[in-house]
Amino acid sequence: MKIGILGLGLIGGSLGFDLRSQGHNVLGVSRRESTCQKAVALGSVEQASVDLSLLASAEVVFICTPIALIVPQFEQLIAYLPSTTVVTDVGSVKAPIVEAISPLWDNFIGGHPMAGRADSGIEAAQRDLFVGKPYVLTPETRTPTAAISVVEEIVRSLGANIYHCQPEQHDRAVAWISHLPVMVSSSLIAACMSETDSEVLQLAQKFASSGFRDTSRVGGGNPELGLMMARYNRQALLRSLQHYRHNLDKLIHLIEQEDWTVLEERLKSTGKARPDFVE
Ligand code: NAP
Repeated sequence: MKIGILGLGLIGGSLGFDLRSQGHNVLGVSRRESTCQKAVALGSVEQASVDLSLLASAEVVFICTPIALIVPQFEQLIAYLPSTTVVTDVGSVKAPIVEAISPLWDNFIGGHPMAGRADSGIEAAQRDLFVGKPYVLTPETRTPTAAISVVEEIVRSLGANIYHCQPEQHDRAVAWISHLPVMVSSSLIAACMSETDSEVLQLAQKFASSGFRDTSRVGGGNPELGLMMARYNRQALLRSLQHYRHNLDKLIHLIEQEDWTVLEERLKSTGKARPDFVE
């Protein structure tokens, strides 16, 4: 099959490696000529260009640009595509993308591979990135079944586990387990930095070990990602932050009241619930 990838970075480049190893003919388009050359040299794509017209002959196109560019790039791309081309994207937020693209393209299916790394760009692309990872698809009731099957078949061949849901359900779910943790973790670091006694602050910095490393990791990462989550998943993120604040208030109340029995029950119940999210 002839497959096009628009945006040759971590996700687009990694997709290219795996699709080529499945025997597909992979064409890539990216913003910079130097990225196109690297992608070909690394073997992620067979041919690459900064010109969208290269994708005109692709049967399926994966849009893998930064999230803010998915819709604008799609709008430019469709001038070159026959209506039979199946288009999908890999954006980490689904509702705003699906709402914008679906009315313009029948053969569109929103997607989100839940795999990644902290690094970005074509240099960070790697083989087998999606193996054993969830890959969410958000087809609509009117999405042609043939288009869904084509994308499913490709995703399955990457070794990913396919999940279907509504775009809004996806955005609410990722708000809980991906976007809220970034905000909570960032607030944790900010709260520690508010220590007014500089000696105590320095001691805290020296004493910080594995617990702080685990809980602060996602709050100390790429600020662009956090900003993207807040801008594109604003409603769901605000909702989960409000629930979090409510839970924090409950904890404060229990400690103020020295209600150790209820606090212990609470800690036991969260300990029991954690394995339902992560092994
Ligand atoms: P990335 O490594 O920064 O790659 C994005 C690539 O898009 C860049 O390398 C850039 O290539 C290219 N690009 C930028 N503007 C472009 C344009 N106007 N036209 C064509 N290409 C353009 O980012 P990523 O991590 O792969 O993320 C890409 C998408 O995957 C995002 O929508 C994100 O939400 C989603 N996603 C990311 C992860 C993750 O963990 N990183 C996980 C799942 C989904 P040049 O070098 O040519 O500028």
